[in-house]
Amino acid sequence: MSHHAIYDSMQEGYADILTPVCPFCHQQGWITIPQTGADALMDGQPVQDALPELDYRLREQIISGIHPRCYPGAEFGDGIDPDLIRSH
Ligand SMILES: [Zn+2]
Repeated sequence: MSHHAIYDSMQEGYADILTPVCPFCHQQGWITIPQTGADALMDGQPVQDALPELDYRLREQIISGIHPRCYPGAEFGDGIDPDLIRSH
């Protein structure tokens, strides 16, 4: 069983995934993903395998709930230092 909350999207061929509560702003979020990726997630595949085409910041949001705009240092969405995120 997957722990992801995935819903049908208004867009044909896509699904909407509800992302966890962001530790910075304490809000959940939504990301629209291809239905094939949603199916893979529901099969229990890791996010990076299910959605290899998705922006890594959005994959991170699916995993941790952290919105790209909420990263420390990210002030206006695009002001993100990738080094802050790719620390592993
Ligand atoms: Zn947030």
